[in-house]
Amino acid sequence: MPDPMTSSPDHPTPQPVPPAPAQQQRGAQQPRSRPPQPRNQPQQQQWADVSVVIPLYNEEGSLKELNQQLRSTLGRMNIRYEILYIDDGSTDHSFQILRDLKRNDRHLKVIRFRRNYGKSAALAVGFEKAQGNVVITMDADLQDDPAEIPSMKRRIEEGYDLISGWKKVRRDPISKTIPSRFFNYVTGVLTGIKIHDFNCGLKAYRREVVKSVKVYGELHRYIPVLAHWEGFRIGEMVVQHRARKYGKTKFGLGRFWKGFLDLLTALFTTRFLRRPLHLFGPIGLFLTLAGSVIDLWLVIEWIRGLTSLGNRPLFLAGSMLIVIGIQFISLGLLGEMISKTRATAEEYSIREFLK
Ligand code: UDP
Ligand code: MG
Repeated sequence: MPDPMTSSPDHPTPQPVPPAPAQQQRGAQQPRSRPPQPRNQPQQQQWADVSVVIPLYNEEGSLKELNQQLRSTLGRMNIRYEILYIDDGSTDHSFQILRDLKRNDRHLKVIRFRRNYGKSAALAVGFEKAQGNVVITMDADLQDDPAEIPSMKRRIEEGYDLISGWKKVRRDPISKTIPSRFFNYVTGVLTGIKIHDFNCGLKAYRREVVKSVKVYGELHRYIPVLAHWEGFRIGEMVVQHRARKYGKTKFGLGRFWKGFLDLLTALFTTRFLRRPLHLFGPIGLFLTLAGSVIDLWLVIEWIRGLTSLGNRPLFLAGSMLIVIGIQFISLGLLGEMISKTRATAEEYSIREFLK
């Protein structure tokens, strides 16, 4: 296989540009009356080899240690890199700590949300702003090990578009590991993607992937599903997982209900967005057919004088099946109409364009 990092025309070679200037942060602390920024100036095109994107919510305990570990790993790699922290509306001292860290480190970029929007929103912003050819995401709680970054980057350079971490030995309470196994299994079966751990925070992406997938709601759990659907090549790598040292998990038991609904969303929006009748139609046809067979049989019995329909609840059940089935079909047709009138979004993802 050709090495896509060197031969593919859609991977521009990093241009040597001076170090990124410290960017003006738009924190809530800043006075609103500060002089207007020159908005219309053309943005300087910048590239990095690696962007590390870290969503965080109330992680004051681990940030310094995390940043130290990241610096030591990335520093040794001899590459151009940036670390993007996205403070998802923390109410502790996370932002102040990041601001202090940034003072001494030009590689850092810190984005602060006005309130807690959730991990997906934080990742989406990080993906939008990231300038690296390879983008690594990781959690801020030190459960993921920054020392994995070089080998993940290597796997991307081997030709994968997305490398998902696999927490083979997981340092989490059992209340989390067992449901998570179930989820991973069901997701794998329903989507046909052969990876063990969909929701690992530690992942590596080729630039095109993060610029292409749309992460919203709580779909961060299913990014591999979204990417797979767009045709990106997905791989897996066993990663070390550590116990949470500071703070506590941000996802309670509610994650399982939401996770299930999000799986439906992920399946529906990838496979059936443009053809909803293919989802609702078969269900509707099956129910209508089953109801019709039942009722037809009872009516024949009735005509032959073998039964009276009044005392056959099965007749009612058959009729209900027919009605429900027709409703499913109508739902699918309505979906088709909506999808046809709004068919503006990109429906394909172009890999190469040779001109
Ligand atoms: N996180 C976030 N916004 C939220 C919840 C979590 O940015 O609303 C971050 C959190 O700070 C951490 C990562 O997402 O960096 C994973 O969260 P957590 O460790 O609580 O999840 P778990 O490891 O328990 O699945
Ligand atoms: Mg965690």
